[in-house]
Amino acid sequence: MASAPPLPELDFDAMSAEDVLGWAYAEFGDRLCLTCSWQKQSSVLVHMVAELGLDIPVIELDTHLFFRESYETRDRLIERYGLRLLPPPELITVAEQHRQEGPNLWETDPDRCCHIRKVEPLLKALEPYEAWISGIRRDQSPSRATTAKVQWSERYDVWKLHPLADWDEKRVWAYITVNEIPYNPLHDVGFRSIGCIPCTRPTRPEEEERAGRWAGSDKLECGIHLDTPVGGQ
Ligand code: SF4
Repeated sequence: MASAPPLPELDFDAMSAEDVLGWAYAEFGDRLCLTCSWQKQSSVLVHMVAELGLDIPVIELDTHLFFRESYETRDRLIERYGLRLLPPPELITVAEQHRQEGPNLWETDPDRCCHIRKVEPLLKALEPYEAWISGIRRDQSPSRATTAKVQWSERYDVWKLHPLADWDEKRVWAYITVNEIPYNPLHDVGFRSIGCIPCTRPTRPEEEERAGRWAGSDKLECGIHLDTPVGGQ
């Protein structure tokens, strides 16, 4: 099991999202990457990184099962910000998965489906990196309520950075609106959280933000953010 390398003693939780990004770039340089799945947090982070003038490569967490609108959002962000998108991690096609695992694995065993289509490719993609920026926020769901802004991931053997951990949904939308940032249009039609087509439905206003993901099952996370936090603030 990998152990966390030492970091300077900083009060990361008191730092703004911009300060966390700036510190991370100075600390990790070209061993730092950003993952995007083209939800609203991706829009915020892509804009913020560009505004700060940081050259941070982007790993697209593409499962081949995203909505058309998510791919179009990616293309609009690339057009506006000129993202340095890394080659996609190796992933079997959906047809191959049907043959190997049986049809519609997302219905019969969604944990295994997420493992094949998200966790394994991400493990591979993160190998060259020491730190990974992700857009998860504490108020998205109870399972994310204790997210630290900087935490060690034993599973991926990297520092995980969550500059938006203390942002709420309102603040995300205010930032997008004020800065006129391209965003996923599915957010305008009730999809407050967006993942793969088979596992995402719109949410009602009174529901939690991520209630439309794996609705009807007790699954809350795809698994890529499940880890035991060690160190950090
Ligand atoms: S979100 Fe659904 S379709 Fe996407 S990888 Fe997970 S189980 Fe499979």
